[in-house]
Amino acid sequence: MRIARFVQPGSANAPSGVTWGTVEGQPDATRDALTVAAIDGHPFGPITFTGDRWAIDDVRLLSPILPSKVVALGKNYADHAKEMGDAPPPETPMIFMKPSTSVIGDGDAVRLPASSNEVHYEGELAVVMGRPARNVAREDALAYVLGYAAANDVTARDQQRADVQFTRSKSYDSFCPLGPWIETVLDPADLRLVTRVNGKVKQDGRTSQMVHDIATQIAFISGVMTLLPGDVILTGTPAGVGPIVAGDLVEIEIEGIGILRNPVVRA
Ligand code: MG
Repeated sequence: MRIARFVQPGSANAPSGVTWGTVEGQPDATRDALTVAAIDGHPFGPITFTGDRWAIDDVRLLSPILPSKVVALGKNYADHAKEMGDAPPPETPMIFMKPSTSVIGDGDAVRLPASSNEVHYEGELAVVMGRPARNVAREDALAYVLGYAAANDVTARDQQRADVQFTRSKSYDSFCPLGPWIETVLDPADLRLVTRVNGKVKQDGRTSQMVHDIATQIAFISGVMTLLPGDVILTGTPAGVGPIVAGDLVEIEIEGIGILRNPVVRA
């Protein structure tokens, strides 16, 4: 099931017009052939439908979830660790955080801050948690997941190099595109992940290349902090990171999920 969050037509962005829904249509259908069916309340637990249904092009998609926090893995693909000049990759998962205010949805613009001259895309598989998770065992970990989405761990690379901490470089508003929806029925072990900028392929990896797999990540992170329903884990980026400039269109396509598209503008 694909879970989207969107503004209903004609509701002028009023909070009451924001709803979750399921995306309906064949998995290989083009975007304009899809519809969304509104659900009553939230997607954590049994889903009931309100009966309202629209063409997906008639609603405005939002980030499919508003996480309390985004926890991200650094250098979790060996080839990317290598291109960052850090090989072999970290033996212990290396984690950092992005604030909830960095999250935007499909179609929203990544806004380049004037303070950086080198902003990079990082295409990543995002894990959305479905239940509170604390000290979860690795073998139980995937049962705590609601589903999976595409994400872009946008990074001000010059500031990441200059600062000891990653916080500034990873945290600007709009630096965490997430979507276009959450796929709840998916085996995340070996999915193709492709990042394109203006149609040109920049990253082409597989989630099976992760150094620490998703179950290991959930076990590790939940041993540090409680993960709440809706919290997001960014699972690391394959090799091929590079710059984006105003006017670019970034697409992150993950097998079994879909394509997350975000234009880039100057803030
Ligand atoms: Mg990253």
